[in-house]
Amino acid sequence: MTFEQLKLIPPILKALSAQGYTEPTPIQQRAIPPALEGRDLLGCAQTGTGKTAAFALPILQRLHAAGKQPGRRPIRSLILTPTRELALQIHENLVAYGKNLPLRSAVIFGGVSQNPQTDELERGVDLLVATPGRLNDLINQGYVHLEAVEIFVLDEADRMLDMGFIHDVRKVIARLPQQRQTMLFSATMPGEIEQLADSLLRHPVKVEV
Ligand code: AMP
Repeated sequence: MTFEQLKLIPPILKALSAQGYTEPTPIQQRAIPPALEGRDLLGCAQTGTGKTAAFALPILQRLHAAGKQPGRRPIRSLILTPTRELALQIHENLVAYGKNLPLRSAVIFGGVSQNPQTDELERGVDLLVATPGRLNDLINQGYVHLEAVEIFVLDEADRMLDMGFIHDVRKVIARLPQQRQTMLFSATMPGEIEQLADSLLRHPVKVEV
């Protein structure tokens, strides 16, 4: 199987070749087609399986296909992840995979000054990668608006639970539009994550690797 067969567009295929990727991983093969169609997704996968590209590539392609929104750039895709390291990695991947597309991505996380992050947000971003605590801080201060989010990713949901972030996660979810695509990834599926998935996902495609 090739990335071409997954119906990815040339600017993305070019970026993947530049990354040295020759073949999609199993989770990419199974998640990308339904995600490109706008389906909700429940992915049971660990870091290292290529799950980031499995959600990042469809997001980039769908946002690009929908075209630029009129006026100021609103946040159209939100990716929530539990740690700063994961947030930075996802952001780097989005920048690399989207380098031939006119989409802007930003990353926010706690433990550092918020000023460079709010400057970036004020310039307008299409995709935002965030950890839950800092995201809620910036929402409460009026720097982040989620009314225009079309695609939401909850990454490493089980770790969110383990790290005590689930309350923050729920607060974020309450601000998202009802009409959206949602992808939830978790390495394990404890009862609480299954319940969260039930409440969050509509007729999801389940992908387990
Ligand atoms: P992830 O599970 O998303 O953290 O990805 C694990 C690593 O695999 C990252 O370093 C990616 O850059 C790399 N990777 C993802 N997809 C592919 C692919 N199709 N071919 C080669 N490397 C990949």
